[in-house]
Amino acid sequence: MTTYPNLFSALDVGPLQLANRMLMGSMHTGLEDIPGLERLAAFLGRRAEGGCALMVTGGFSTNAEGRLKDGAASFDAPEQIADHRRVTDAVHDAGGRVLLQMLHAGRYGYHADIVAPSALQAPIAPHVPREMTAQDIERTLQSFARTAAMAREAGYDGAEIMGSEGYLLTQFLAPRTNHRTDEWGGTPENRMRFPLEVVRRVRAAADADFVIMFRMSVLDLVDGAPDPAEALDFARALEAAGVDIINSGIGWHEAPVPTIAQAVPDAAFVTDTARIREAVSIPVVASNRINSPEVAERVVAAGQADMISMARPFLADADFVAKAEAGRAAAINTCIACNQSCLDHYFTGKVTSCVVNPVACFETELTLTPAANPRRVAVVGGGPAGLAAAERAARCGHKVTLFEAAPEIGGQFNLAKRVPGKAVFAETLRYFTNSLTGAGVEMRLGQAARAPALAAEGFDDVILATGVVARRPDIPGIENANVVGYADVLSGAAEPQGNVVIIGGGGIGFDVALYLLEAGAPSYTDPAAFRAAWIDGAQEPAQTFKGAVTMVQRSPGPMGRGLGKSTGWIHRAALKRHRVRQVTGVTYERIDAEGLHILSEDGPQCLAADWIVVCAGQEPLADLAEPLAEAGIGVHLIGGAKQATGLDAARAIREGVSITSTL
Ligand code: NAP
Ligand code: SF4
Repeated sequence: MTTYPNLFSALDVGPLQLANRMLMGSMHTGLEDIPGLERLAAFLGRRAEGGCALMVTGGFSTNAEGRLKDGAASFDAPEQIADHRRVTDAVHDAGGRVLLQMLHAGRYGYHADIVAPSALQAPIAPHVPREMTAQDIERTLQSFARTAAMAREAGYDGAEIMGSEGYLLTQFLAPRTNHRTDEWGGTPENRMRFPLEVVRRVRAAADADFVIMFRMSVLDLVDGAPDPAEALDFARALEAAGVDIINSGIGWHEAPVPTIAQAVPDAAFVTDTARIREAVSIPVVASNRINSPEVAERVVAAGQADMISMARPFLADADFVAKAEAGRAAAINTCIACNQSCLDHYFTGKVTSCVVNPVACFETELTLTPAANPRRVAVVGGGPAGLAAAERAARCGHKVTLFEAAPEIGGQFNLAKRVPGKAVFAETLRYFTNSLTGAGVEMRLGQAARAPALAAEGFDDVILATGVVARRPDIPGIENANVVGYADVLSGAAEPQGNVVIIGGGGIGFDVALYLLEAGAPSYTDPAAFRAAWIDGAQEPAQTFKGAVTMVQRSPGPMGRGLGKSTGWIHRAALKRHRVRQVTGVTYERIDAEGLHILSEDGPQCLAADWIVVCAGQEPLADLAEPLAEAGIGVHLIGGAKQATGLDAARAIREGVSITSTL
């Protein structure tokens, strides 16, 4: 008997009989853009091995104009069929099913040759699109049909037509972006004509056993979108046009509302999916911020959706489905919704991966090689870097002992998990606790490692993952009683109120400001409160903090430039709502009972402060390196102990995973 009876019940999708209700949703991983598609085949094949019954590739445009950017993937030539055959074979050989996502970016394309229903530039794109002529429209419709026919020939079980998130099909649907006065614009019927015609052409080009999934916008989150009644009519029209299953798209990319970040509560948008589900008789898929089998089961059991799309959770753990099915949910490596190595990588032109699972999308590179000569390995430090190193080394066959001076594992994650939206970091620690035990790692918690003892125990190698120590800047008065470190605040040891000045405007400075202002805010966990805060926008943020926050840094220019591309704007918007003052380009003069005295281009001034919180970066903590080397033990530095500057969880875990290849 499975723990998730609804999630693991069969579902018919067009001609397919699926064994469970989990879909790996489309992600632009960057692997789509690498000629040959071998790495994409390895990535998807591995997820099929892990029990994922149905998956969708990243977006492939149907012609050159529809590409996301120069060099982005299109599937528009018969010569490409053989490459795609590699992908479908890999998935089918592992027992899975795969749909090709057909995507036309329209005005969202990041290249000069973009087209759209009307010549209106997107706020997030650098070029004004050319208005499509009637011939352009017909040519584009034909391109969808041609790509569908080639996809079928390449062995795909079907296609997902991308009709949400503000891409071309959505641009036709919405008065916001469609100002046409011909048969393709104006009335709802005319605005629906293009996406519906895409469906009809795809259906005509491929036989009835080719699944058509349509990703429609169940919530647009921009002005000038189709009204809710129109969305229901559109869903019914999709069904009539031959769509087998509707997937949910939430928000346009230009929407000023977070849709998949940590600020969004679990399953925040399933009520929007449920509305569509009531209007049609084909299956409907829910999406966004569902990252555990428990939440997925709840949504299916409540009848809000027939199937659950999860994308990033399959980056974090290829075996998500198999573990859930076996009742081993505690062994799932949970996606923490940080976007750091997935979306942010894609936006900066890098291949996607995953902070908590750096092997994702690097299946052919970071292979697990069994150790030819297993060694006795001590890992010192139970933060993310040490945990990853211990797990990987043990899985390679080494005999591993993990030393952690604190009574619990986690290091900086134990502080991070107290920041609003980051409670999910605890799931990573739950995962490591489970996996380290499973891999046979001996855990010595509450035990600070010493060089002589390590030498006496006869370890062959020591992986030093002792992390960082907070930097205490050399400002006169820094030792005053009203000055505390970020760890004091995030751990709850200090509870600043009144005028609080934060020294440092990096990631941790932002985290501390958010913690002071929004700790316990319901918008992170309750969808209704989230909507009130982010969508209805009418509410002043509730806050228990009594006082005002000022952030200050020495570098000139706006703060938070180092924050993630896909999430930094959310943190900046939250602090702006709370009227946090940010002062940059300053010199620190001294701290006294009045506050922090600075020198800026406006001259000397005192930032009145009841409390000053230091968030001024970190220094490496690697005291053991020298004595260990002197004792003749091989020392390997990773994470913050190796280099504190620019340290983040992604680098820490990646270094932990990679270090084993040097043992
Ligand atoms: P950080 O991002 O490097 O920021 C350090 C801050 O300290 C800067 O604002 C810097 O500003 C200031 N600073 C540096 N040296 C100083 C000195 N000697 N005296 C006074 N101020 C000094 O480091 P962090 O905030 O500690 O974060 C650590 C790492 O975690 C970073 O890699 C960060 O990206 C990551 N992180 C990211 C997030 C997120 O993206 N949401 C959240 C938390 C942590 P000035 O030098 O201009 O004064
Ligand atoms: Fe999830 Fe972060 Fe991994 Fe992306 S990088 S899949 S958001 S854990």
